[in-house]
Amino acid sequence: MSSNQKIEASSLLVTTVKGVGEKVSLNLSKLGIQTIEDLLFHFPINYQDRTKLNKIAALEPDQEFVVQGVIEKVSQTFVPRKMLLVKIKDTTGHIYLRFFYYFPGLRNVFKEGSKIQVAGTSRLGRYGLETIHPDYELILNDEFKPQILPKYRLTKGISQQKMRNLIQAAIELVKNKGIEIQDYLPKNSLKPLNEAIINLHQPNPHSNINEYLIGGASEFRRRVALEEIIANKISYLSVREQNKIKKTHCFSDKKLADQILRELSFNLTQDQENAYKEIFNDISCETPMLRLLQGDVGSGKTIVAALIASSIVADNKQVAILAPTTILANQHYQNFVQWFGCDDEIELLTSKIAVKEKRQIYQKIQSGKTKIIIGTHAVFQKDVVYKNLSLVIYDEQHRFGVSQRLKLKEKSENFPHQLLLSATPIPRTMAMGVLSGLDVSTIKSLPPNRKPIVTSTLPNKRRGALISRIKSAISEGAQVYWVCPLIDESETELIGIEDLEKILSKEFKPDDYQIIHGKMKDADKERILRAFKDKKTKILLATTVIEVGIDVPNANIMVIENSERFGLSQLHQLRGRVGRGERDSFCILMHSNALTELAEQRLNIISSTTDGFVIAEEDLTLRGPGDILGLSQTGQPSFNFYDLLADEKLQSEANKLALEIVKMPIETQQKIVERWFPAHLELSDV
Ligand code: ADP
Ligand code: MG
Repeated sequence: MSSNQKIEASSLLVTTVKGVGEKVSLNLSKLGIQTIEDLLFHFPINYQDRTKLNKIAALEPDQEFVVQGVIEKVSQTFVPRKMLLVKIKDTTGHIYLRFFYYFPGLRNVFKEGSKIQVAGTSRLGRYGLETIHPDYELILNDEFKPQILPKYRLTKGISQQKMRNLIQAAIELVKNKGIEIQDYLPKNSLKPLNEAIINLHQPNPHSNINEYLIGGASEFRRRVALEEIIANKISYLSVREQNKIKKTHCFSDKKLADQILRELSFNLTQDQENAYKEIFNDISCETPMLRLLQGDVGSGKTIVAALIASSIVADNKQVAILAPTTILANQHYQNFVQWFGCDDEIELLTSKIAVKEKRQIYQKIQSGKTKIIIGTHAVFQKDVVYKNLSLVIYDEQHRFGVSQRLKLKEKSENFPHQLLLSATPIPRTMAMGVLSGLDVSTIKSLPPNRKPIVTSTLPNKRRGALISRIKSAISEGAQVYWVCPLIDESETELIGIEDLEKILSKEFKPDDYQIIHGKMKDADKERILRAFKDKKTKILLATTVIEVGIDVPNANIMVIENSERFGLSQLHQLRGRVGRGERDSFCILMHSNALTELAEQRLNIISSTTDGFVIAEEDLTLRGPGDILGLSQTGQPSFNFYDLLADEKLQSEANKLALEIVKMPIETQQKIVERWFPAHLELSDV
């Protein structure tokens, strides 16, 4: 095929790729992947460094490794659970491979005496050094091929290997079949987009992996980072640009707001009042608002948003509120019903509501009877037709809503006012880069009734002390969040929490604790949360599912397992779940017995301050290249490649290019934004 016959990757469905049938394509769509372009824009979130061969005796716990050895023993146990155990040795020592989920034939794959190469993460288990669900390959000789393997975000039904194969196949199409990733950026100083994308998926095995990680020096990474920062920028700038020439309704009725305030059990803080005034000012003008309300966890953004919403309701117009999770949508719904003192004008809309009921809700929305629509992305589904949508509130804005912003016109005759709420304090040093085009209001202080949270760190070997402390606390009415990190999306994810449950089950009564995690049905999650809210359960054993927004004032103790694996901002978010009620509050950061210097520094920061802005700044400066890709770890706006400090130089180039791009047709702008923030992405209802 000649070069002028290129086909755009965005116009080809993933089913064009070898190995993608109906089922795989359905699974891929859960990751927002529908076209070949989407697949190629599904970038690695990290890499596996298989460039050096390790010796077993030199392995430390928690280390990623590759070893070659001989299979010494294969055994299967059924107690305490079904498990395949494979003992491997090299000239220096031995390690166990543990498999929990496996097909029956796997047992026969491992033959005693065979040579094997194993890659995984080591840990100290009950059999000594072990690794759970490692990658393995039976080998014939000792030849070692260095590799850098991409690690992708996955979803149920798609394994890491499958994802690698699919992306490899898509790359083949680009290389050999004249399929092209459209480059929308005006001329710039970096590598061509196609080349950059291919290299991020398949780094040269002789290169330094750090160059490809966030903040790293690779020109390929920087090219993709440039694209990403621009996508983020134009998602604001483009709305702002269009807003300039648009007029929308002005709202000035404060009667309902005053009534809500009179009935409220607390007074607004000065910061809340100031924020309210600023936002109110915006909605009383005819230029559509585009404003971010940022405030630390628990600073009370929701009531401010509700007061603003009341002016729209008072004028008989509609407000949509997007929450990132069903749990949060529910919580907002309950708050709003209480504050507005009625529920017939407020509807909850999530993907879990039965079709019949949904249709009735749609009708009420279309007729204008419903004034406040609270939900997850279901709020923006095609079938939802608004009568006069005039304000959209995005809660925890960095989680989603980016590409929807550009599409709002379709939902509303005018551009509605838009208010973004974020619990991630954005330090001054970042604000310019990330938020250009947005107006910002800030709530700095917490409500006065807050008790300080005492934070301490504790190595795993002192778990006994922790348990007796928790026992006496719950006997006095305390409630505890006990959080395990979500290690990755693989099936082994729950092992951390299952192991912990084993410990707890020996120490606590079955009625004392319940488990909650992201893979549960929503109804189950809600039931468990309700029981915790009603103080029926004392301990909530959770994955980071509880991170965002959950409000249970009586809970006053937070235990975080493997705290050294979390980003600082994420720890801060988690900790913000306690310290909301009358009791003294504690946060205990459990960590492995030996900490690296950096990990120790990080835990010191989180122990010494509860100021989210300080933590965000420190998080940025402490995080260097080589850290896990994706700021989502740190709770910052989720950039995959762009690093606010290391890539500062890209900023001015991005600014220049973004200004050219906002002059392009809106469809082009939408294409760039959607590559990074797919509108059709079914957001996981965690
Ligand atoms: P966030 O800013 O993290 O979304 P919320 O809006 O959920 O915080 O508020 C956290 C808790 O603080 C809620 O229970 C809310 O009712 C309460 N709250 C909000 N403002 C005040 C205030 N001024 N005084 C006392 N409590 C408040
Ligand atoms: Mg909130």
